[in-house]
Amino acid sequence: MEKININELTFEELEKFIEELGEKKFHARQIFKWIHREKVLDFDQMTDISKALREKLRERTYILELKVLECQVSKKDGTMKFLIELPDHNAIESVLMKYNHGNTICVSSQVGCKMGCKFCASTKEGFVRSLLASEIEGQLLTVERYSGEKISNIVYMGIGEPLDNYDNVIKSIRQINYPLGLNIGARHISLSTCGLVPNIYRLAEENIQCTLSISLHATTDKKRRETMPIANKYTIKEILDACKEYIRLTGRRISFEYALIYGQNDSREDALALAKLLRGMIAHVNLIPVNEIKNGIYKKAPEKNIENFMNTLNSCGVVTTVRRELGSDIDAACGQLRKKYIDKTDQFEGKKYTKSEE
Ligand code: SAH
Repeated sequence: MEKININELTFEELEKFIEELGEKKFHARQIFKWIHREKVLDFDQMTDISKALREKLRERTYILELKVLECQVSKKDGTMKFLIELPDHNAIESVLMKYNHGNTICVSSQVGCKMGCKFCASTKEGFVRSLLASEIEGQLLTVERYSGEKISNIVYMGIGEPLDNYDNVIKSIRQINYPLGLNIGARHISLSTCGLVPNIYRLAEENIQCTLSISLHATTDKKRRETMPIANKYTIKEILDACKEYIRLTGRRISFEYALIYGQNDSREDALALAKLLRGMIAHVNLIPVNEIKNGIYKKAPEKNIENFMNTLNSCGVVTTVRRELGSDIDAACGQLRKKYIDKTDQFEGKKYTKSEE
């Protein structure tokens, strides 16, 4: 019989499983805590569980262990960038950022990405597969275990499009939320999407109070299509309508991500158009000076343009911040470390990862 990944079970599923083993279901509380809070990797560390039950668990299940292949630490700000290996040898990235208000982890939701945004490194190697909920939550467990740090905030802004892996992402949020587990409130979780409209509506109905971030990056559909293929599928108007519904149902404000690209979307006219689009919405704009990726064609907007852009938005009453650049001395932009790893393994070890047929 194939062993099951015990990390993938919700608390209710674990209770059922323990009963199926002929044991009292209250043990599920202990086991869930050991795995999701204490982060143990060996059943023998579950000291309040009988040896017999530990043995049964070992026979039927395994604890998911993700391997840290590489960890780069920024000398400037302590940002830690992890290259993490999944059981099938695919590699993903997670980043731990240290802010005054606590530690934030940026997690990946897929191996690669289908969305094809032209400025993004994650997309360059194509799409391989979506992550399981346990592989998403596992990034937190692995990074906490490795760094000894406590994580208080999560952003789904690593490799992949979270709303293209909807069920697993929602499950991972609920697992991370769970009081017996990491117990991190949804208000400390941000999910970023390039705008998969139907799933924004679904998310609004989930009764999860997470922050929604929209990667807008342009103010007209025509311009957006130049850098983001998803703009061929959904218009900005459709996205904003979905956002309004999200605000109506959750009461949460929306954060709009806008990567400033020199000569592409960084003019005063762009700023004014953005302010006009967001008028009357509970919104916040997060300006990201574009991270120049290897072989990329897009250049970072000069400081002056970034400042002017922010001031224009602020003077129009749109709350705007510039994302403080962390880890600029390491491979900070998402997808860069994985890309480097793939290039290296392709060259020296043959393909260690599998590309999907899609
Ligand atoms: N697929 C999701 C999450 C991925 S990345 C999304 O599209 O939102 C998180 C954010 O970083 C997105 O806003 C994305 O557009 C942006 N991003 C990607 N590459 C970037 C780069 N090179 N410079 C600046 N921002 C970038």
